[in-house]
Amino acid sequence: MNKKIVAMLIAALSFSLLFAQKSKTDSLREVEAAKTEVWAPEPPVITPGNSPQGAPADAIILFDGKNLDQWRSEKDSMMAAGWDVFNGIMTVNKKNAGIVTKKRFTDYQVHLEWRVPENITGKGQGRGNSGIFLANTGAGDEGYEIQILDNYNNKTYVNGQAGSVYKQTIPLANACKKPGEWQTYDIIWTAPRFNEDGSLKTAAYVTVVHNGVLLQNHTEIKGETVWIGKPFYKAHGPSPIKLQAHGDPSEPLSFRNIWLRPL
Ligand code: MG
Repeated sequence: MNKKIVAMLIAALSFSLLFAQKSKTDSLREVEAAKTEVWAPEPPVITPGNSPQGAPADAIILFDGKNLDQWRSEKDSMMAAGWDVFNGIMTVNKKNAGIVTKKRFTDYQVHLEWRVPENITGKGQGRGNSGIFLANTGAGDEGYEIQILDNYNNKTYVNGQAGSVYKQTIPLANACKKPGEWQTYDIIWTAPRFNEDGSLKTAAYVTVVHNGVLLQNHTEIKGETVWIGKPFYKAHGPSPIKLQAHGDPSEPLSFRNIWLRPL
């Protein structure tokens, strides 16, 4: 190799190192995260019917359109839920954190309705990302997330699409409605049980119906849902339910008509 080529190679290498430095940590995490993404096969697209569901007489009303009395900020047990309530719906406030129920639950049936704004922008995981954590077992996103995402003509890794057990179980179908339309989740949750030494006694199970279409059929949960790495269990008792504020630049999601029946 002549000296001129060597000099050029060194110059090119220094140039790329300089620019790689800044985002090195971020891109390494992205590479790690990509290892657990699954992109195929894609669940079939099913056009759902339209029938929102009122609360039965014995339900605990978690949100009836009036206030966030049943919720608090995920940041602090004394901090009020900082989302906006207007016209019977609650909307994620991007300035504030996710919200969790004040009550703690074990096994239950829950109904919620969510809407992605009609003017949603972004793509992949950055398009209407929220999620319901069926048991928020610690700080931040600790626990078990059923993904909420706009997957109406929006491709992403299929184990991260709407109705997935995030990064664990691909939904049986894609039943997403268009942005701007209200959508329902009906979820049946059986919490995991733990032995006294903290080891797992029985796994958690989840059934998810999205807009009347079955997405998860008594799916066994492999552990807490994590962005990077493999799911794992850690012992916990009754836990709050969390709605995620993902903090995407696109317009925020809204929720309405949330009720729960302990089982
Ligand atoms: Mg999410």
